[in-house]
Amino acid sequence: MPTPSTSNPTAPISGCASGRCGSSTQQIDELDASTAQRVQDHPCYSEEAHKYFARMHVAVAPACNIQCNYCNRKYDCSNESRPGVVSEVLTAAQAVKKTLAVAAAIPQMSVLGIAGPGDALANPERTFATFAELSERAPDLKLCLSTNGLMLPRYVDQIAAYHVDHVTITINCIDPEIGAQIYPWIFWNHRRVTGREASEILISQQQKGLEMLVERGILVKVNSVMIPGINDQHLKEVSRVVRAKGAFLHNVMPLISDPAHGTHFGLTGQRGPTPQELKALQDDCAGDMNMMRHCQQCRADAVGMLGEDRGAEFTLEKIEAMQIDEHAAMGRRIALRAAINAELAEKRAARHAASAQVIALHRATVSPGRPVRMAVASSTGAIIDTHFGHAKSFRILEVTADSVHTLGTRAAAQYCGGEADCGEADNTLARTLASLADCEVMLCSRIGIEPWGKLEAAGIRPDGSHAMEDVASAARAVWQAMLESGQLANAPAHQRRA
Ligand code: SF4
Repeated sequence: MPTPSTSNPTAPISGCASGRCGSSTQQIDELDASTAQRVQDHPCYSEEAHKYFARMHVAVAPACNIQCNYCNRKYDCSNESRPGVVSEVLTAAQAVKKTLAVAAAIPQMSVLGIAGPGDALANPERTFATFAELSERAPDLKLCLSTNGLMLPRYVDQIAAYHVDHVTITINCIDPEIGAQIYPWIFWNHRRVTGREASEILISQQQKGLEMLVERGILVKVNSVMIPGINDQHLKEVSRVVRAKGAFLHNVMPLISDPAHGTHFGLTGQRGPTPQELKALQDDCAGDMNMMRHCQQCRADAVGMLGEDRGAEFTLEKIEAMQIDEHAAMGRRIALRAAINAELAEKRAARHAASAQVIALHRATVSPGRPVRMAVASSTGAIIDTHFGHAKSFRILEVTADSVHTLGTRAAAQYCGGEADCGEADNTLARTLASLADCEVMLCSRIGIEPWGKLEAAGIRPDGSHAMEDVASAARAVWQAMLESGQLANAPAHQRRA
């Protein structure tokens, strides 16, 4: 019987090359608290968990009720890792035996999934018999299933009754025209349905099933296969819709297409996406919802940590020879899980404390921009419509990153009062400059050269470039420009003078 590493059982062990595991701790941090708590020991849903916890799929579901153009369940290669591939199909009793054997040998085991090689819900007897027995004999294991969704509405209540925690639905489209290019037929109500009608039924069952699962509090992940030229432009819309209906994660996977696999797409030369195309689509969809990026597209009989396959250690022949103490094994798993979760919680707390410190430091050292006082020449206070020399008063604003606050108005002796006042002009201007001395900017519709120079010399920057604009918007734009040009790093000129 294989034994786990015991020198430091809570140390992360990962079969994944870390470069492939693109999900981040941020991914789990972005989930709401209750979802994050439910997926914290599910290796598929966080980078952290997949280094500590293992999962296995039991291949109890050989039959399928639809045909996808990318699938051929006859093909098996033990060197190949792709959904739909298995070495042994199991009965429910064999699946239970294998699960208990694996869970005894690998105490990091936290999740048991049924993911084929056909469809879990096209084989309901075996699927639910497996869940029924395991929920009695290994109640600490989380149960998952993957489905194409065709029979989902019929089985949602049974799924809930066995406390299945997560369901993955493969949804490649919500448009039956696109679906007709992916699904040549479905088996529905004892008959084979083809073409657009087949896709209409499938899509409607998938959407209904998704809604019913969410209503019952079951976590739903949506898988989509990206097929260039067929659904690549459409998957962003799929992401938007499934998120709106409550799916918590979307996993866009590349089409695996090779003539040797004997699939329709493989034989007709349909290409898969390049890594760049896949990433671009995942980035595009990420605006709409949490994206999973570290899926390993595991075999339907995968065993162990993500990225490793220990299936060969647990063939039916080998597990027959194993002596298993189920209760002791469950005790070990529960103790190990508690230790790992405590360690992860400590790491998360340290991470949060560190980021809080960084934020505090940032706030203390990096000014987000100080307030700027501005004078505005405006007849109404709403629009910058007044020539500096004609202004009877100036509205005084205090402008910050998120507010434009009026401090009051200040009377101005009109600088251009007509010929009779020309001799007084210099005095008038001097009085106005004095009354605006604490302002850094003066916004007006127009201004002459001479007063422009005098304002500048007094440390007040005249600005006539926002003529006839809304006062608040113009003030914000001027503040932003000052921030970006670094003018807000220093105290205002009048304070520096003082
Ligand atoms: S196929 Fe993807 S979702 Fe399923 S166990 Fe592997 S990584 Fe997790």
